[in-house]
Amino acid sequence: MLIMSQQQFENFTASSLYCDKCKTAMPVRERLLLVLPDREIFDYRCTDCGSSVGRREVTAGDKLLAQAMARRRPRRTPAQTLLH
Ligand SMILES: [Zn+2]
Repeated sequence: MLIMSQQQFENFTASSLYCDKCKTAMPVRERLLLVLPDREIFDYRCTDCGSSVGRREVTAGDKLLAQAMARRRPRRTPAQTLLH
């Protein structure tokens, strides 16, 4: 259980993923793709070419954990802040 949530936390904080187009690990931008009653789906896009490089599902439990983390340590999402 503990190991699993540690893994999820590591995924959550990932700021670069492998991009097929760029053929290297690139910084990614997180976009909210879909909101469902029990989960939210995020899409990760390469900041250089805009290709989708990954997806993440956040369940209600994960969201609570993320909010608790955010309160302690703000997430670095400058690109998202600029969108609004
Ligand atoms: Zn790319």
